[in-house]
Amino acid sequence: MSTNKKNGVLGWLGTAINDYLDRASDELLAPHVAWMETEVTRLKKSFDFAKAAEARRLSATDRELVAETLYRNYLCRCWQDARLSDRERELLAWLANNLGLPSAKVSELNERAAVDVFRKRLAQAFADGKLDDTEKAQLAEVAAACNRTVEGLMQTFCAKEGDDLLRNVFAGMASDGQLQREEWRQFRETMSLLGIPKDQALKAIRLPAQKLVEHTLADARSDDEITEREEQVLTSLLDNLIDDPRFAHYVRGEVAEVKEMQNLARGVLPSIASPNGVALRAGEIVHWAGRVEFERVRELANGPKVEKASGDLVVTDSRAIFESPGRSMELNHRRILAHYPFGSRIEIRSGGKGAGSYEFGNGGERAVAIWETAIRRANQTIVASDDKEVRRRITRDVRQRVWQKYGGRCAECNADTYLEFDHIIPVAKGGGNSETNVQLLCRNCNLAKSDNI
Ligand SMILES: [Zn+2]
Repeated sequence: MSTNKKNGVLGWLGTAINDYLDRASDELLAPHVAWMETEVTRLKKSFDFAKAAEARRLSATDRELVAETLYRNYLCRCWQDARLSDRERELLAWLANNLGLPSAKVSELNERAAVDVFRKRLAQAFADGKLDDTEKAQLAEVAAACNRTVEGLMQTFCAKEGDDLLRNVFAGMASDGQLQREEWRQFRETMSLLGIPKDQALKAIRLPAQKLVEHTLADARSDDEITEREEQVLTSLLDNLIDDPRFAHYVRGEVAEVKEMQNLARGVLPSIASPNGVALRAGEIVHWAGRVEFERVRELANGPKVEKASGDLVVTDSRAIFESPGRSMELNHRRILAHYPFGSRIEIRSGGKGAGSYEFGNGGERAVAIWETAIRRANQTIVASDDKEVRRRITRDVRQRVWQKYGGRCAECNADTYLEFDHIIPVAKGGGNSETNVQLLCRNCNLAKSDNI
């Protein structure tokens, strides 16, 4: 694969296109097809498909498949020299009629064959990394042979296979580094040489590009880590391919969030201005402030009693302060005995006041991570917590297979944004990191799930 590197994106394009040339043929029907071909050669125009099919005792379904394959083979042969003579056209028309193929099917096969030849020519043209005048002329000839323009055929090709093509191109690029600015420039230049307007090229490859972005984001979320290369891939895609400010805004927001989680994991905390009305000690730093739902279950003699309160929470470097109309509590980080995060909720065990569960609502993972980090920092356990990180880490290989298995969509609701790799059985409950215990969930479904656990 690396041999293509020197040709940049066009080399990859060539490889990707060639990958599509290997089409599996139906092996069971192959002997029938071969026999039919001999018969056509022997009998020429007196060949009668209906009779031949009878002789081979073909079922109705097999008849259709054999007829189609036979026609495709002749199409392929006629197109071998990348042009269709009048005699070849005549032969194909006669054959289609003899095989009893519906005219819609014939048109479809004709077009597919032309696109195939076009693709082959395109692959050859791209093999050396540039498109010269001779190659352009060859493409034009193929297009003319089926009464199409190069632009028209290219559009058909992109519309039908742009996704797969681009995915392959991206996979190739990602395997050996970054998407180079130069590679994109070349790619666009070739598109314009082929008469594909920039807008159209971008439109054709927008979906696979977005998929690649989602995949990269899901990878980054799974270990709260975004590598320099992942960020480069994302930036390059946003700068060059995805001309959509809203999507770009979403991606940049997600990248910023992952980076912050990455910083939190390393013990780096944000500092914000102190909210009004909160009395701080000298030198005390505020890391987070906002609304939270407090809940505490007390086991009393006559059964459990649930206390609930909504209020404001301020997390500083040394404590958390909770204020609600009926309640005011202060939790010193160093008095906390244990803390358990569950998505946007954290449960605090403490000997004193404030023990219970705190729900931060939508987007609450960030607040939970900040509070956890502040607690760990105050107790100097940042390093010790790495153990937990290692346990829940899903390898890239597993993530790749899980992504393929779910087709880049949420296992529950089919959404294709905000995707996260999820342990079906949570790590805390003994679930492992193998492919069978990992699924793809969107953030909403993941939150709904953690609420139920
Ligand atoms: Zn979902």
